[in-house]
Amino acid sequence: MKGSTAETVKVVVRCRPMNEQETAHGHNRVVDIDVDRGVVELRNVKAPETDPKKTFTFDAVYDWNSKQLELYDETFRPLIDTVLCGFNGTIFAYGQTGTGKTYTMEGIRDDPEKRGVIPNSFEHVFDHIARSSNQQYLIRASYLEIYQEEIRDLLGKDQKNRLELKERPDTGVYVKDLQQFVCKSVNEIQHVMTVGNQNRAVGATNMNLHSSRSHAIFIITIECSEIDDKGKNHIRVGKLNLVDLAGSERQSKTGTVGERLKEATKINLSLSALGNVISAPVDGKSTHIPNRDSKLTRLLQDSLGGNSKTIMVANIGPASYNYDETITTLRYANRAKNIQNKPRVNEDPKDAILKEYQQELARLKAQLSQRGVKKKRKKKVSEEGGEDEEEEEEEEEEEAEAAKDEDSEALLQQEKELEIEKNRILNDQHMIEEEKDRYLTEIKHKEAEMVAAKDAQEKLLNRIKTMESKLLCGGKNIIDHTNEQQRALQQRKHEILEQKKRERETLQLLEKEEESSCEIASTFSSLQAEVEAETRKLKKLFATLQSVKQEMADLHEEFCRDRVDLQHTQNVLTRELKLKALIIENFISPEEKRKILSRAFFDEDEDVWKVRPVVRQTSGTLKRPVSSASRRPTSEYAKMQASVDHNPRYKGKNIMVVELDPAVRTTRDWEGPVLAPRVSAALEAALRPLDEDLNIDASLATLNHSQAVKSTRKAKGK
Ligand code: ADP
Ligand code: MG
Repeated sequence: MKGSTAETVKVVVRCRPMNEQETAHGHNRVVDIDVDRGVVELRNVKAPETDPKKTFTFDAVYDWNSKQLELYDETFRPLIDTVLCGFNGTIFAYGQTGTGKTYTMEGIRDDPEKRGVIPNSFEHVFDHIARSSNQQYLIRASYLEIYQEEIRDLLGKDQKNRLELKERPDTGVYVKDLQQFVCKSVNEIQHVMTVGNQNRAVGATNMNLHSSRSHAIFIITIECSEIDDKGKNHIRVGKLNLVDLAGSERQSKTGTVGERLKEATKINLSLSALGNVISAPVDGKSTHIPNRDSKLTRLLQDSLGGNSKTIMVANIGPASYNYDETITTLRYANRAKNIQNKPRVNEDPKDAILKEYQQELARLKAQLSQRGVKKKRKKKVSEEGGEDEEEEEEEEEEEAEAAKDEDSEALLQQEKELEIEKNRILNDQHMIEEEKDRYLTEIKHKEAEMVAAKDAQEKLLNRIKTMESKLLCGGKNIIDHTNEQQRALQQRKHEILEQKKRERETLQLLEKEEESSCEIASTFSSLQAEVEAETRKLKKLFATLQSVKQEMADLHEEFCRDRVDLQHTQNVLTRELKLKALIIENFISPEEKRKILSRAFFDEDEDVWKVRPVVRQTSGTLKRPVSSASRRPTSEYAKMQASVDHNPRYKGKNIMVVELDPAVRTTRDWEGPVLAPRVSAALEAALRPLDEDLNIDASLATLNHSQAVKSTRKAKGK
C-alpha cells in the first residue's frame, strides 16, 4: 500500500435524470448507458440515422437511477480509505451547469439518501476514527473558492481578502494564510461547511450564476499517528480535495468588450487551462504539463500528474438539446483517463501539526506533573529502592494523571494550613502587635502566591484539556460487537463491489481483444466462407473508419469554433491595445514612459504587472548625481592640490585657491584743517580746564565774590 506505483486518473460518468421541464417539453433522451460494461453511447439527432453512435468507455458509469450511496460505496469510499492511510486524494466534478456537479459533491444534506460525497466522507472519516485503535487523529478543514482567477477563503474573517498561491520545494503549492479549522466531530466539520457555503453566497448578486462560474474546493487534512512495533511514533498525512468545478460551458465572448470580455476570459481561463493539462500528456510529445497557466491547475497540480489518487466525475445531461456540451464533456473525460499520477503515502512530513501538538502536550503535562511527581517519586524510591524501567514508564503515565489531582490536593492542604496559622496568630494574646502584623502580612503574601499558583494550574489544565480534545482516538478498550459486525459487513460489501468491478474490466478487455483479433486465427472450410468472414471484417472496419472520420470532422469543427472565438478575443484585445498605445504616444512624455518601463515588472504569483517603487537613499549623505555629460578633465593643478589639500571640495575640480591681490590705494589719511597759530593758541586757552590752576589770593579775601572771580579771570587772561 505504501509503494508509489503510477496509476491513471479514474474517470466515471454520471448522467442525471430528465427534469420535469425537459419531460414536459418532450425532449428526447440521446444518452444510453450500459452500467455493466461501463459504456456511454450518444446519439446525434441532427445527424442521419445511419450514422453510428458515439461510444465511450469509462472506469464506471452511472445512469439516472444511480443512488448517491451506491456511488459512494463503489467509487469514492476506496479513495477516502486510502486518504485515511496517508495518501493524497482528489475528487472533482466536471460538467455543464445543471448536470449535477453540486448534487454529486454536496447533494441534499437534509435527506440522508441524497447526501453527496462531501457529507458522506465526513461520516466515513469520523466513523473510521471511532473504530480505530492505538491511533491518534487530527482532522482539519479548509474551504476556498476561485472566482475570476482570485482565491477567496470561504472561512476567512475578511471576505474581501484575496489569497496568494505560494510554492515550496518540499511541500509543493499551497495557499498562503488559508484558514484551517480543527474538527472533532461530524457536526463540527458540517458546521464549517455550512459557514463556508453561507460566505460563498455573500456578495454574489446571483448565486446560481456565481456558483456556475466559480470553483469551490473543500479540503480535509487527516493526520494520523501510530506507534509501531519498535515503539517509534509514525505520522501519516492524507489530504483530500473535494472540488466542485465551474460549469464547463464556455462563457460566450461574442459581442462582449471591455470588462465583460475580461471577465469571460478569466472565467474561461481556469477551465481551458484544465483542458490543456488534461490533454497535455495525451500527445506524448510534450513533456511539459501546463500547470502554471491558472490558479486552479496550479492548486490541482498534485492531483493531475502528481502525488495523488484522483477521481474525475463527468456529469452529463440526457436531453438532446445538450448534445454539444455532452459530447465535449465526454471527450474531455476520455482524455483525462490518460493522466498518470504517482501517489505515495506521506509519511513523517516535516510540517505535521499533529507532531507539534503531541510535543506541546507532553511539555504541558511535564510542567504539570513536575511538582507532584517529584514529591511522590522521592517517597517511593526511598520506600522501594530500584525498579524495572518498563514498569516505571507505565507508572509515569499514571503518575502524570495522578499528579493533576495531587497538585490540587496539595494546594488545598496548603490553604487550610495557612488559615489555621492565621487564626492562631490572631488569637495569640502574648504576641506584640508589631510582630502580629509582620506575620499577618507574610501570610497574606503566601495567600497571594497560592492564588497565582492555582490560577496557573487551572490555565495549564484547561490548555491540556482543549488540546487533548482535538486529538481524536478510537474506542480504545470497548469491545464493540456492532463495530465488529459493521466492519465485517463493510468488508463483504467491498468484496462484492470489487467483484463487480473486475467483471466490468474483464468485459471491457474482452471486447477490445475481440475487435482486434477476431477471426485472425480462424481457418476456413471453403473460399465462400472465407469471403464471408472477410466481408464481415471489412464491414466492421469500415464502420470503425466511418466513426473515426466523423470524429475527426467533429473535432475539426470544434477546433474551428475555438479558433474563431480566440480570434475574436484577439481582435478585441488588439484594438484595445492600439487605443492605449495611441494615448501613450500622444499624451505621455517619452521621459515618463521610459521611467515607468524601467520600473515595471511582472509578478508571476499574482499574475499582474507591478511598478517598482522609486528607491530613495534614506541614510547617510545623498549621492551627488552623476552628470549626464562626461566629467570635466582634471588639470595638473587639481591633481597636485588634491594630494596636499584634503578638502573634498576641490577633489577632481579645476578650482584654484588663490590669494586675493591687494587693490591699488585710492584714498589718503585724514589730516585735519590748518589753523593760524593765534587762533589755535586762543582755542587751546579756552579749552583748558578752569579749576586746574585756580589760585585764590588771600589779599582779595575781602573782595566780594564777583570781584574775585573777575580778578582771577584777568590773571588767567595774561
Ligand atoms: P450543477 O452543480 O452541475 O450546476 P446541480 O447539482 O445544481 O447542477 O443539479 C441541477 C439540478 O438537478 C438540481 O436540482 C439537482 O437536484 C438535480 N440533479 C442533478 N443530478 C441528479 C441526480 N443524479 N438525481 C436526481 N437529481 C439530480
Ligand atoms: Mg453547482
